[in-house]
Amino acid sequence: MVQPSINKVKQVSYLKEEINRLKNIIEQLEEQISQIQIQCKHIFLEVEGFRKCTKCHKVEVIYY
Ligand SMILES: [Zn+2]
Repeated sequence: MVQPSINKVKQVSYLKEEINRLKNIIEQLEEQISQIQIQCKHIFLEVEGFRKCTKCHKVEVIYY
């Protein structure tokens, strides 16, 4: 068994922190999108099986 080098360990914890940081950013961005979608007066474009708002890109599944 080869011991993982300190550098590798540091790199992994750095990368994990970076992932968590980016996840937080993604959450904030998704929150912003959902706020926009809540306020949007949707204009839907129907595609097969679902429809998508041309303004905010909200997607809704169409049930037949
Ligand atoms: Zn919309």
